[in-house]
Amino acid sequence: MSRSVIVVGGGASGLAAAIAAAELGAFVTLLEQLPRVGKKILLTGNGRCNLGNQDTNDSHFHGTLPQSKQILAGFDAAQYFRRFGLLTRTDAEGRIYPMSGTAASVLDALRFAAAQKGVRTLCEKQVTAIMPKGNKWQVTAGDSVFTADALILASGGSAAPNCGTDGNLLPLLKKMGYTINTPRPALCPVLTEPQTVRALKGLRVRAEASAVLGDRILKTESGEVQFTEQALSGICIFNLSRLAAMHGDKMQIALNLLPSFSDAETESLLHELLHQRGDLPAGDLLTGLFPKRIGEMLLRQAGGSCNIPASEISDDTQKKLLSLLHDLRFPVKGTASFSQAQVTAGGIAGQCVSKTLESKLHRGIWFCGELLDLDGDCGGYNLTWCWASGQTAGSNAAKS
Ligand SMILES: Cc1cc2nc3c(=O)[nH]c(=O)nc-3n(C[C@H](O)[C@H](O)[C@H](O)COP(=O)(O)OP(=O)(O)OC[C@H]3O[C@@H](n4cnc5c(N)ncnc54)[C@H](O)[C@@H]3O)c2cc1C
Repeated sequence: MSRSVIVVGGGASGLAAAIAAAELGAFVTLLEQLPRVGKKILLTGNGRCNLGNQDTNDSHFHGTLPQSKQILAGFDAAQYFRRFGLLTRTDAEGRIYPMSGTAASVLDALRFAAAQKGVRTLCEKQVTAIMPKGNKWQVTAGDSVFTADALILASGGSAAPNCGTDGNLLPLLKKMGYTINTPRPALCPVLTEPQTVRALKGLRVRAEASAVLGDRILKTESGEVQFTEQALSGICIFNLSRLAAMHGDKMQIALNLLPSFSDAETESLLHELLHQRGDLPAGDLLTGLFPKRIGEMLLRQAGGSCNIPASEISDDTQKKLLSLLHDLRFPVKGTASFSQAQVTAGGIAGQCVSKTLESKLHRGIWFCGELLDLDGDCGGYNLTWCWASGQTAGSNAAKS
């Protein structure tokens, strides 16, 4: 008789787990609390779904799950989807997208594969209880009770709660004895003092952004930084946000607005501009480099005035301006909430699961996806983890 497997959560990792278990002949029931599966997949990559990355080395993943190294080694997201008839294309930065250019086709590929392999998908089934029943597992969802040889938990993290992911199973799992590393928003805007960014609201600038703790640089990312009413945003800031969540107001974000210029080159550039634009208002000095409001803000922070002729900018202000161009600091005031986050840092601690992602506390329970304490950088890494961990949990639950 084939093994029975229940998967809780019909997101990226739950669908991958269900397919993998069914491929090995298991009788799989997928329980999803929302009216349909894969809601979050449709939102990924701005509706285009960045489903993987050519470079999946360790440095892009964070958390407490050393097991992930082996699970991710050799996993190829493009090949994974090719098996289900979905072709991909890779952009210049190594990010993998569906060839169709739409996330809907990724969800379709998974839904079709699950149906073809006989997965029974039941929606509007929120699991609220998990109990052992002999050597099987029993889950309760509303009036329904389901029993199976193996249980795969794929209920996601707490990010984007409008997609059904609000960490609702965590209290139950904590009661069952699991260590849960505090879930925090990640891949989200970083909050700062509103008065430092308000004047820049709506502007974008290319920069090198560093997470700075005391005199240590924890991480540096390059790309476009966006300014909002009270936060810094953009992909490079997203990639620093898990550090901001961890260190809070002990951390600062430092922007290097001219990363390709050495100190000496920046100094000579400033002299060149002062020479070319000396008769213009000081507020217009840097408009050939940045949006005007950024130049004005730099000048004010350097102690200068925007209305005097640029040629009258004092030596002291010039010196401060030079330093700000390479090291413009923003105090960290936390991160945006889970509703603005793409992923969750934290979750079920790595020490609770084996190499195959089976629970070390309860035989017959597996975990996968964002529910575990592993999060990736922006660039397709989080979905890569979902497909790879779902496949590992699914195939082992079916075989075990
Ligand atoms: C706006 C946005 C854009 C993103 N873009 C990208 C991208 O381009 N590339 C990338 O790699 N990553 C991206 N991510 C991150 C990625 O989408 C997630 O890491 C991934 O979807 C997590 O998959 P999961 O299976 O762990 O959980 P989820 O996809 O969150 O699925 C969990 C499922 O479980 C269900 N569930 C929860 N509790 C229960 C319960 N008690 N009973 C039954 N069902 C339950 C939920 O309704 C949900 O359907 C993005 C995230 C967001 C929010």
